[in-house]
Amino acid sequence: MEKIQMVDLSGQYKKIKPEVDAQIQEVIDSCAFINGPAVKEFQKHLENYLQVKHVIPCGNGTDALQISLMALGLKPGDEVITSNFTFVATVEVIALLGLELVLVDADPNTFNIDPKLLEKAITKNTKAIVPVHVFGQGADMESIMQIANKHKITVVEDNAQAIGADYTFADGKTQKLGTIGHLGCTSFFPSKNLGCYGDGGAIMTNNDALAEKIRQITNHGSKKKYYHQEVGVNSRLDSIQAAVLNVKIKYLDNYCAARQAAAAAYDAAFSKNNNIEIPARNKKSTHVFHQYTLKIKGKNRDELREFLASKGIPAMIYYPVPLHLQEAYLNLGYKSGDFPVTEHLSGIVLSLPMHTELDAQTQKYIIDAVLEFVK
Ligand SMILES: *Cc1c(COP(=O)(O)O)cnc(C)c1O
Repeated sequence: MEKIQMVDLSGQYKKIKPEVDAQIQEVIDSCAFINGPAVKEFQKHLENYLQVKHVIPCGNGTDALQISLMALGLKPGDEVITSNFTFVATVEVIALLGLELVLVDADPNTFNIDPKLLEKAITKNTKAIVPVHVFGQGADMESIMQIANKHKITVVEDNAQAIGADYTFADGKTQKLGTIGHLGCTSFFPSKNLGCYGDGGAIMTNNDALAEKIRQITNHGSKKKYYHQEVGVNSRLDSIQAAVLNVKIKYLDNYCAARQAAAAAYDAAFSKNNNIEIPARNKKSTHVFHQYTLKIKGKNRDELREFLASKGIPAMIYYPVPLHLQEAYLNLGYKSGDFPVTEHLSGIVLSLPMHTELDAQTQKYIIDAVLEFVK
């Protein structure tokens, strides 16, 4: 058996190598490395796939979040609410822009922001909410949009982990995650569900004015070359990355299905064991399993992780330290005990290998090892 990995990018590449290599070669031959035709083509592909009016490609997912908040024209002192159970990028950009970062605890089952606590965190200074669709399934967007609309607050979805997932509202309407809020952000970091071969990201919106503003910000605050209306940034998806994504987007639904099949096999093996809890599903959202994350209840999570490592099986803790207890964010004034759910989860979650190339034999080996330890 080959070395087991959390994510197998090499196995995935081998299956699409001729197509990818040809597309990359075409960019090199054309020398249109920046803003070449491949970028425009990918923009159209993704707009069509997501059924959204505007996709604005940019340099990475962190930039996508930062540029989105810049486009809202927020001022220092304006409050932005997000989940405490996320990757640091979500909160970093809020802090960098000098905005007031307000954290909200997670739902203990779905790991996503708890809408009841969200509503309690709203003040007259709240200007934006950034729900994160953590691990690949939607936050409770129906409640979040209702709350946001009631208080006239802008919603920026952090969809770095759930591209391709569908969300169905109570009225039966289905939309892709990342296109429900006023703005949506995603990342094409190589290990993300739609990953390129370097850095990449995009912003999604159905709002023409915001789209125009965002295009301007990504391009040094400029609409016309060498004329600058505002302070912007330089954030671009390069043509080689777009060429890779033009191939991979055709397989995104297959990739989601492969992850869902692997998750179903894990579920079937683990659902009857009392010492572990399989990922709970939000019934309104599909789950595209950026991560397959167990809660280890009756046994010690860190000992299980070491046991798996001794058998050559990697397993990761997303996220080991809640954001309010990270050194960089202690100045927010939160203390231990303020976010009981996130604090508890950080001690019991364990993500198993999850990717598009997980074969049945490897998965059985992983499952047997987990069950041997948790019995
Ligand atoms: C990966 C990720 C980001 C940042 O994306 P980059 O492309 O690495 O900058 C932001 N938010 C979440 C939730 C992520 O998982």
